[in-house]
Amino acid sequence: MVYKYLFGPVLSRRLGISLGLDLVPHKVCSLNCIYCEVGKTTLLTAERKEYVPVKHVIPELRDYLSQKPKLDYITFSGAGEPTLNSGIGEIISFLKTEFSEYKIALLTNGILFSSRRIRNEIIDVDLILPSLDAASEIVFQKINRPVEGVNVNDVIKGLVDLRKEFSGEIWLEIFLVPDINDTKQELTLLKSAVTRINPDKVQLNSLDRPGTEPWIESINREKIVQIAEFFKPLPVEIITQPKQKNKAENFNQNITEQILETIRRRPCTADDLEAILALNTIDLNRYLNILLEKGKIETIKQERGYFFRTT
Ligand code: SF4
Repeated sequence: MVYKYLFGPVLSRRLGISLGLDLVPHKVCSLNCIYCEVGKTTLLTAERKEYVPVKHVIPELRDYLSQKPKLDYITFSGAGEPTLNSGIGEIISFLKTEFSEYKIALLTNGILFSSRRIRNEIIDVDLILPSLDAASEIVFQKINRPVEGVNVNDVIKGLVDLRKEFSGEIWLEIFLVPDINDTKQELTLLKSAVTRINPDKVQLNSLDRPGTEPWIESINREKIVQIAEFFKPLPVEIITQPKQKNKAENFNQNITEQILETIRRRPCTADDLEAILALNTIDLNRYLNILLEKGKIETIKQERGYFFRTT
């Protein structure tokens, strides 16, 4: 079976071996974050609908999971905001009924959690990883560039309510962009908002791939360590690259397509690709060279090295 909505499994920095599930096309989102690693939002919306039909997603999941792959999580993620798909509740319920041995993670911008109905739809997942990059309206608008009608106070209130109702773990991500949300004033507001939300973990992240806006830089290590100290005693951690390259099982036999599929979603270094696709350096380089020669991919230099992306 050719999978259209499943991707990976990938070796995720936060989730280990994770099977991705893409519930919206590239790139439907309620935010247009300046640092987004999957590109500019082309449909900025808060409208919910079956952007990807549930009746097509479920057979893919059934086919793939019936092979009993070793996974740490099945993760709603991909090229946009998964909670915008109005069928997400039905998919969660399918997974919990037919494949309850697998844990489900939801990567989300958290915008729609101001609605109780939407919180109820996703309440059965095991782990929620929402983002919150700002606590003042002005910085929220600058960094996340939301769809009209969304304000940061409602977002924070939605996360506070989610915490009260949801018994699984919440790992809240803060994406730091130098000179935008790393000022003393914004960090103080953020700390107060995070204290109210009371997540199980606060994860500090910064750019390690090319972002949507080319002028964005990664925060330096010293500064991010200081910010982590500032957030204490909250359970804060800095997200780092996985130390060990676990070998993820792959289901797609066509390696060229796997490489293209992976970097179409996010630019990756050769090291990333080796870890994600469980390829050795020699084989990977051979494929990358062919793709470069054919003009299907290109490289871009960033602080962490050369990244490959589709042309
Ligand atoms: S980072 Fe996430 S929330 Fe922000 S624009 Fe990209 S997909 Fe949407």
